[in-house]
Amino acid sequence: MPAWSSVRDDFPTLHQSVHGKPLVYLDNAATAHKPRAVIDALSHFYARDNSNVHRGLHELSMRATDGYEGARTRVARFINAAAPEEIVFTRGTTEALNLVAASWGGAHLKAGDVILLTEMEHHSNLIPWQQIAQRTGATLRFVPVLGADAEDGLDLAALDRLLTPEVKVFAFTHASNTLGVANPAAALCARARAVGAISVVDAAQSIGHELVDVQVLGCDFLAFSGHKMAGPTGIGALYGRRTLLNAMPPWQTGGGMVAQVEYTHATWKPAPERFEAGTPNFADAVGLAAACDYLDALDRTAIARHDHELAQLAADRLRELPGIRILGPRTQRTSLVSFALPDVHAHDVVTFADQDGVALRGGHHCNQPLMRKLGLTSTARASFYVYNTAAEIDALVASLRRIQKFFAG
Ligand code: PMP
Repeated sequence: MPAWSSVRDDFPTLHQSVHGKPLVYLDNAATAHKPRAVIDALSHFYARDNSNVHRGLHELSMRATDGYEGARTRVARFINAAAPEEIVFTRGTTEALNLVAASWGGAHLKAGDVILLTEMEHHSNLIPWQQIAQRTGATLRFVPVLGADAEDGLDLAALDRLLTPEVKVFAFTHASNTLGVANPAAALCARARAVGAISVVDAAQSIGHELVDVQVLGCDFLAFSGHKMAGPTGIGALYGRRTLLNAMPPWQTGGGMVAQVEYTHATWKPAPERFEAGTPNFADAVGLAAACDYLDALDRTAIARHDHELAQLAADRLRELPGIRILGPRTQRTSLVSFALPDVHAHDVVTFADQDGVALRGGHHCNQPLMRKLGLTSTARASFYVYNTAAEIDALVASLRRIQKFFAG
């Protein structure tokens, strides 16, 4: 049973030095570290139960199938889906969003329809919609991001003008990976529903940091990645309402997803199998279920408090640095803070911080149009998770002071 007092002991990767300094890992929005419980679940699976799932009638295959389908049930419970069949395992958020855009979009969108997005979408919730718009003749519309004065939030007043009956889908991020902004997802889903549009929530940056309940959100689809919630890489999920999933054509085809195959045609199983062609990533699904157990044992409300408080503290401390521009809200910050130092490129910030053992991320964070809109080419980003501490913020600030001194000559 994990305990907050010893949470760092659960994560083996944290206990190392980088360039002779203790590692301060603040790149959790890119990927989070894995607790021993997840690593053990993976190694136990490979050491004891490994076998292909579903069609096997021998002991190991049945154990593997139980592990895989048990993981589906666990993930369904983690996000309060109505049934395990509403969980389609994918490689992660990107694949889940591509699946919805291509399958649902390909079947339902036509010229004259509108896909509503926001200006703060990660490329993976933008480009799949661009692609399906080009294929179907639908057009894209964007909820604007207000400027720094409005703390980089969405222009929710614009929804009255934007959410017209032509809008068939509203896809938006639950929490921005660049701004530290959380969007009012339940309200946005309700607004979409009111005009007959479906809602798609990108939960990549919220899933590991707070309680995400699809029934409270009222969303039609929700996408997330395991690796950002202390689970393995290469596994994630698409949640979809059962009726919607079962009315969608397959996205990829092959073994495992068929009901009946003839030489010239085939029929499909219902969801979720319909969307899981080929050998699925069953081992990492077992690891993902272990991550769900780990986070629930820590208590996701407590995780939210911890991560949000640390990011807020970091933002408040960073304001001490002369000339710094901090994106996003002054209060109510999610688990990250992204910033630009005057006259120092974000890549230099990250490279210098690395010399102090501080792991940050710098760049456009897969938000190129947003960066352009904000008049920036890149930012440095510090992002927090369950194992980070206030002392690590001291290390971050000290490192950034050193960088500013160096570049001031
Ligand atoms: N959306 C958001 C908001 C993200 O932060 C990320 C990951 N940076 C993604 C989508 C894509 O996630 P993945 O690379 O795990 O598919």
